[in-house]
Amino acid sequence: MSPMQIMKFGGSSVANAERIKIVSDIVKSQKTKDQPIVVVSAMKGVTNALIQATLFAESGDQSYITILEDIKGTHYGAVDVLFPQEEAHSEICSSLNLLFEELEGVLRGIFLIGECSLRTNDLISGFGERLSCPIIAAYISLDNARVEAVDARTIIRTDNNFGKAEVDFETTSRLVRKRLKKKDIIYVVTGFISSTADGISTTLGRNGSDYTASLLGASLNAASVEIWTDVDGVLTADPRIVPEAWLIKEISFQEAMEMSFFGAEVIHPYTLLPVIEKEIPVYIKNTLKPSAPGTRIAKKAYHKNQPITGIASIDNVSMITIEGGDMIGMPGIVNRIFSSISNSGANIIMISQASSEHSICLILRYEDAHKAAKSLTEDLSDAISSRIIRSVRVTDELEIIAIIGDNMRGQVGLCGKLFSSLGEANINILAIAQGSTELNISFVIASKNKSKAILAIHKSLLE
Ligand code: ADP
Ligand code: ASP
Ligand code: MG
Repeated sequence: MSPMQIMKFGGSSVANAERIKIVSDIVKSQKTKDQPIVVVSAMKGVTNALIQATLFAESGDQSYITILEDIKGTHYGAVDVLFPQEEAHSEICSSLNLLFEELEGVLRGIFLIGECSLRTNDLISGFGERLSCPIIAAYISLDNARVEAVDARTIIRTDNNFGKAEVDFETTSRLVRKRLKKKDIIYVVTGFISSTADGISTTLGRNGSDYTASLLGASLNAASVEIWTDVDGVLTADPRIVPEAWLIKEISFQEAMEMSFFGAEVIHPYTLLPVIEKEIPVYIKNTLKPSAPGTRIAKKAYHKNQPITGIASIDNVSMITIEGGDMIGMPGIVNRIFSSISNSGANIIMISQASSEHSICLILRYEDAHKAAKSLTEDLSDAISSRIIRSVRVTDELEIIAIIGDNMRGQVGLCGKLFSSLGEANINILAIAQGSTELNISFVIASKNKSKAILAIHKSLLE
């Protein structure tokens, strides 16, 4: 295996000139034989600002111009600090000027016609990485390091599912190997963005730069993929909710995948898919504490005397409750329920069925739940009028909480402890599901109880 490493730096790691200097030091301090491949996100807050600017422009609100000026200020401000030398400064400014001209043109077009397609949305939200990448690459190259900035749209190939495009692994792998083949060059690659076979810009979904890094890692058989961020690694819970959350030093691919699917945004949910098969370890590290070990995500992880590994949660979900007589005993109906939801394009996150077979609860994101409920009432109108289905109800403002861990398998008494800690905190549970792998238990509560519930579980199982 080559000793080469992929190093991905998130938005907070490249938030300003000072941080970019730290990133450059970390990259240059790599002692591997081959140069690392660096993946960068947009500067912190820029992707959100681009999306907000698009919304303003689309609704005919001139405020998009103010946001655009702010985005310019962030980038030119960093450039002024990073490149005091006149020549380097004017060179990087000319590349930025061109990008801003293009961005301004697209936003103005949206403002004039008052409409923005999903395709154009992707083009705009990807500007953040196209702006940060040349700045970071130019800074790393200042003391004569050999550096090349790479626009990932030339190497990450996807379909045209705008907003969250699906990757064509085979083509991507071929393009990556062909483009990033020089071992003595530090390639600095834009995260998040990709393109279709026709060259149309797409994105890998919010937070997608982690995924870019793992796609490069798998394509190049890297020794490891490092995700550099603003926390010490994967913690036992979101530190914004649980100040006592502590660092998980080792976590298995499966556990980390469950954590991210259930909302731990420290890694994008798809990140581990490309690297699992090749068993390429992923490290989560803190840019402000480069020498700290971080979290190692690999095939196996050992957690001694720890009932669970972590807690994660998904905000703003809704529950569809379908109630009927002996509805669930009739396989035809269940099939129709699931095809109707699937045809509506909605994605079910969690299913919980009462053993009485009289009702079924489905948990979906808010928009998906309402889309699915509409489709269900239309497609199953015959079953509803003949009372096989008595009601299709949607409850909003809910939260899914999941506890995750390899050690949970076959552990007696864990559920008792979990639910009594919630009972003591006076929290009502609306639905429960256990993953078939016994690697997680997830349950649904009212959104307002989220922090209280996570704090109570953390105290009972992890402190
Ligand atoms: P980046 O900009 O580097 O991509 P993100 O904001 O996407 O960073 O992810 C890091 C953030 O994820 C942390 O600041 C933290 O608030 C949040 N987070 C949520 N759950 C966890 C967890 N279990 N462990 C660590 N961080 C978590
Ligand atoms: N800049 C993109 C986002 O904010 C991708 C990323 O940072 O990973 O979602
Ligand atoms: Mg991220």
